Amino acid sequence: MYDVVIIGSGLSGVAAALGFTKKGIKPCILDVGSKPGMEPPITENFYEYRKTTDSFSLMLGEHLEGLHNLIHKDNHLPVKLTSPRMQFVVRGSQRFSPTKKENYRLIQSFAAGGLANAWGAGVYRYNERDLNGFPVSESELSPYYEELKQEMGMSGSNDDLVTYFGREERLQQPLELSANAARLYAKYFRHKKKLNREGVTLGRPRLAVLSEDLDERKACDYSNLEFWQPDLSYIYTPTLTLKKLIKEGKIVYKRGYLAKFWTREDKVLFVHSEDIQDNKIVKFECRKLVLAAGAVNSARLALASRRDFQSRLCLLDNPALQFPFILPSRIGSRLETRSFGLTQLNIVFDFEGGQSPLQGSMLEITSPARAEFFQNFPFSARDNLVFIRNLLPAMIVLQLFFPSAPENGAELKLNTDKELELSGKDFPFQGQRIKSVLKTFRNLGAYSFPSLVVKVPNGLGLHYAGTLPMVSKPNRPYTCSPNGELFGEPGVFVADASVLPVLPAKNCSYFVMANAMRTADFMSSVLLGEA
Ligand SMILES: Cc1cc2nc3c(=O)[nH]c(=O)nc-3n(C[C@H](O)[C@H](O)[C@H](O)COP(=O)(O)OP(=O)(O)OC[C@H]3O[C@@H](n4cnc5c(N)ncnc54)[C@H](O)[C@@H]3O)c2cc1C
Repeated sequence: MYDVVIIGSGLSGVAAALGFTKKGIKPCILDVGSKPGMEPPITENFYEYRKTTDSFSLMLGEHLEGLHNLIHKDNHLPVKLTSPRMQFVVRGSQRFSPTKKENYRLIQSFAAGGLANAWGAGVYRYNERDLNGFPVSESELSPYYEELKQEMGMSGSNDDLVTYFGREERLQQPLELSANAARLYAKYFRHKKKLNREGVTLGRPRLAVLSEDLDERKACDYSNLEFWQPDLSYIYTPTLTLKKLIKEGKIVYKRGYLAKFWTREDKVLFVHSEDIQDNKIVKFECRKLVLAAGAVNSARLALASRRDFQSRLCLLDNPALQFPFILPSRIGSRLETRSFGLTQLNIVFDFEGGQSPLQGSMLEITSPARAEFFQNFPFSARDNLVFIRNLLPAMIVLQLFFPSAPENGAELKLNTDKELELSGKDFPFQGQRIKSVLKTFRNLGAYSFPSLVVKVPNGLGLHYAGTLPMVSKPNRPYTCSPNGELFGEPGVFVADASVLPVLPAKNCSYFVMANAMRTADFMSSVLLGEA
């Protein structure tokens, strides 16, 4: 019998495992655990590689996987996940978690390391304002943030955004800015006073991305490979910690098992799991169980264990808008081939009267294939190519997140065929907010139009949360105590984003990981007390 079984090896499961190992407890991680392919890694710049090497298999794949969004029009994936080497992240998700969706796009991962194999590695502390409505305070989380920072490595700066992101000591230097981002940032300083008065603050992102070597890991080499290759050593993923803990013999990792539900006899919990090779059911015994299967699959396990085909749970995600911006002064420049292809800058809009700030990431578009943008220009093929060549090097994209609360969350239930049924609600984006954002960027020398702003489809904010929220005094099923214990289920704890009662407009994973470690700490003290 294991002291602890953790279901899932994503950011939350691995953070919980790390927490247990620090207290001398050896947990067992149960995971489906799909792995990337065995292709040799690319060691040079994406654009150099393409000049010298046939990139058919890299970009399209031996089975044309790269054309996923053309072939499966009803099941669009975020662009990064269509790239052949990244598709292992979502492989088998409909088989392992059959889901019916209405007005919702759900991206599920059954990979070792989960969705974070493809994440942008933006790591932001929740401050007291963000934690409004949570039964946990910033100071309770603080020690875990510090441990995680050491584990992941973090680059960034304590700049104007300190008000929103908090102060981080021992940060590596921020990454080099792309030419577009550098121009926007310089303009910000010219108009800073006015912008700050209007509630707008700009600064460098906090990223679990290395700008300097750390142990065996190399610093970012600006190779633009972020969309094409998993396991870039400068981007932290949970598989780094997972591999280390396995090598050090500090955890047991059971790959190839799909947990279906749990039962209990006295104080022993049994996790009924399918061996995905032969479909046989295997029971794992443990004293405590940690759900870290992601907000959707942890909810599925909780519903299935109660054989509850009635209850409707709320699923939160950050509603988001995408703004493409053109910097006219950069039109006709050469494409920047040496660049970091993800978040360059963050912007926070703390509008007067707004309950909580809106946070945006400004993304370089140097990593995705140029072809992705072809359909966005309405001209003849030849003219579209001219636009792509001349306009794209002058473009930067803002992904602006909005907060989410149960009143605008999606609904999730399990049906008697063991399928999840999900239905999304449209978020009431205000036209006035869009106009204010466009005006701010005009001041920064970047232009767009309301008609070009894209509403990200429900569910593609990719920050799933809130299905099993923590409350100060839980008194109904599917809520958790402040320590993460599920109501009515002694010994079953939730460590992923399911526990968020509301979702601030801020990438949630750093909070989720710190909270998972806090939960593991609490559970360790109970386990050690019982021993
Ligand atoms: C393109 C992209 C960019 C992102 N960028 C950011 C960012 O910059 N910052 C940020 O904070 N967040 C970001 N996110 C979101 C972030 O990656 C996720 O919120 C986070 O990875 C979720 O971690 P998790 O451990 O809770 O669950 P998941 O990553 O979903 O992992 C679930 C794990 O559980 C296992 N599992 C699930 N069900 C079962 C079962 N029944 N039995 C056994 N195993 C099971 C899976 O195999 C997997 O290992 C991004 C996501 C994507 C896709």
